[in-house]
Amino acid sequence: MKALVFAESEPAARELSAGARTLADEVTLVTFDDPVAGVADRVVTVTVPEGHPKEDALETFYQVYQDVQPDIVLVEPTRRLKTIAGRIAAREGASVITDAMALADGVATSMYFGGVGVRTAKAATPVTFVTVAPGTFADAEPSGTDAAEAVAFVEPAVPLTLVAREDLPPAEVDLTAAERVVAAGRGFAAEEQLGLARDFCQKIGAELGCTRPLTESETWFPREAYIGVSGLILNPEVYVGIGVSGQMQHMVGVDRAKVSFAINKDKNAPIFQQVDYGLAGDIADVLPKINAEL
Ligand SMILES: Cc1cc2nc3c(=O)[nH]c(=O)nc-3n(C[C@H](O)[C@H](O)[C@H](O)COP(=O)(O)OP(=O)(O)OC[C@H]3O[C@@H](n4cnc5c(N)ncnc54)[C@H](O)[C@@H]3O)c2cc1C
Repeated sequence: MKALVFAESEPAARELSAGARTLADEVTLVTFDDPVAGVADRVVTVTVPEGHPKEDALETFYQVYQDVQPDIVLVEPTRRLKTIAGRIAAREGASVITDAMALADGVATSMYFGGVGVRTAKAATPVTFVTVAPGTFADAEPSGTDAAEAVAFVEPAVPLTLVAREDLPPAEVDLTAAERVVAAGRGFAAEEQLGLARDFCQKIGAELGCTRPLTESETWFPREAYIGVSGLILNPEVYVGIGVSGQMQHMVGVDRAKVSFAINKDKNAPIFQQVDYGLAGDIADVLPKINAEL
């Protein structure tokens, strides 16, 4: 069995290659620019020329796909890799399974209806493309060659036109790698009050994320910081939700935390049914006291 991995971040390249190793005898990793050593039997890097969006690497990725002839393709769920993988799968008439949280014996488990349900799926075609949620193969160990080969960029027949480009400030933290995660929710009355959450994080060695409204209704956090079904799916040791109501769409992003806590002024908030420890209280009242004690 042969596995091909499409990944663009180093943590995903490691994790997906390690996961591929549990499924296949031969693992090839395709990534952009910088190779990742020691994770796959073959590591292929693609450098996209200036002026082309990364999605234009489609033909280059496809050439590697045709060369490898994989049985399964594991894909880091970034927008551009999903675009590339989806287009190759469509060309090949291959099954696509999205957002897998577990994968074994050809059966993938993923969430559907925003996390309301869990479904299992098996590909109906000989080749399967699977986009894989972070943490799915957290326990697998990667192994492989330190050598890497750079493949020549294959010009697409119909390239995308880059209309405008705006660099975003780099994300301050990598929440997927954090062992302790605090999520700030709509219970924070103003952006300035987030200083309390930042102090708390600093005291307990945690990184700060948020619920979706804090990136969409407010712009207090970058979009990369929100946790949940349409944001980040995490696998931390510790989760603390502060001023978070506990809606399913957020909680599916943290329900694999080993220990979870919540602070909410409403003692009937749904989050209290889903965490290990809860404190009913107002942020403005309890958080300064907790910070002072820590
Ligand atoms: C298709 C879809 C996808 C979605 N995906 C996501 C997702 O990926 N991630 C996500 O987060 N959301 C997502 N949502 C939104 C989600 O349904 C919820 O609306 C959102 O998570 C609620 O955020 P919240 O808990 O911060 O706010 P609220 O639900 O408004 O809860 C605020 C909580 O703060 C408490 N509170 C208020 N004031 C205080 C105070 N002073 N002290 C202490 N507690 C206080 C309140 O009691 C309340 O429980 C999605 C929704 C849809 C429809």
